[in-house]
Amino acid sequence: MEKKTIVITGGNSERGIGLGVGRRFAREGWRVLIMDLAKEPGEGCSQAVQDSGGAYYSVDVTNKKQVDAAMKDIFARYDFVDALFSNAGILQWVPFVDVTEEQFDREIGVNLKSMYLVGQPIARKMMERRKGSIILAGSMGGKESAPFQSVYAASKGGVIQLTKTMAQELGPYGIRVNCTCPGIINTDIGKGAPNPKIPWLDRTPLNRFGTPEDVAGVVWFLANEDSAYMTGQAINVTGGMMTF
Ligand code: NDP
Repeated sequence: MEKKTIVITGGNSERGIGLGVGRRFAREGWRVLIMDLAKEPGEGCSQAVQDSGGAYYSVDVTNKKQVDAAMKDIFARYDFVDALFSNAGILQWVPFVDVTEEQFDREIGVNLKSMYLVGQPIARKMMERRKGSIILAGSMGGKESAPFQSVYAASKGGVIQLTKTMAQELGPYGIRVNCTCPGIINTDIGKGAPNPKIPWLDRTPLNRFGTPEDVAGVVWFLANEDSAYMTGQAINVTGGMMTF
């Protein structure tokens, strides 16, 4: 059987969700292609890519020229991409009245525009083959919000709406589009959170924060045929936090 290929953006962070997903897909025998900012991949990312027979691309996912160059190379070398996990994201904790234009553009750029820049060429190729699964990184923050996350919440709300519209347009071509909406996952993105007063754990029935592997299980399900009749969904991975 032909080896399947997944593109993951933002997969270089050692403790991050993207690398957790990359490791899972590498273990399952997929080819893992990772795009991230760093010039060279870190040790974990390098290992996952190598184990899977994949490759690392140093790409700023907000930069169309860089994304297009990477996609050109990917389609020349690997022909097809079976799944995309568009995961690169940032979280800036800033009171709304202090958000600068530069901060606003950057957060919307990484969290939302990148989904369009990377998703469009992959969707076009998937349309030709009439198959494929696109998974966007949403967030609980796209459904609820918290102080100092105005731009993050707006970007992730946008991701959820993008998911639904892409699913409607691409469904007739056999392409499914869903997004993951994690709660609190133990990675570096939450560093600098200014508001310890929010009792996140008390609101989490499973009584622990999530791990990248928790999200990886859901991405694995969404990329595969077990979820063949699911599209346009924003799936909570929150330990139950959304339930009250
Ligand atoms: P991390 O910060 O661990 O990983 C994010 C990765 O994205 C980093 O490797 C980062 O690179 C990369 N990145 C940032 N900007 C760019 C860019 N312009 N181009 C390419 N890569 C970039 O975060 P998480 O693993 O926690 O988050 C992954 C996704 O999951 C994000 O979209 C986030 O919003 C979402 N999420 C996370 C939650 C959590 O609690 N952790 C909860 C809900 C959603 P670098 O390190 O060099 O900046």
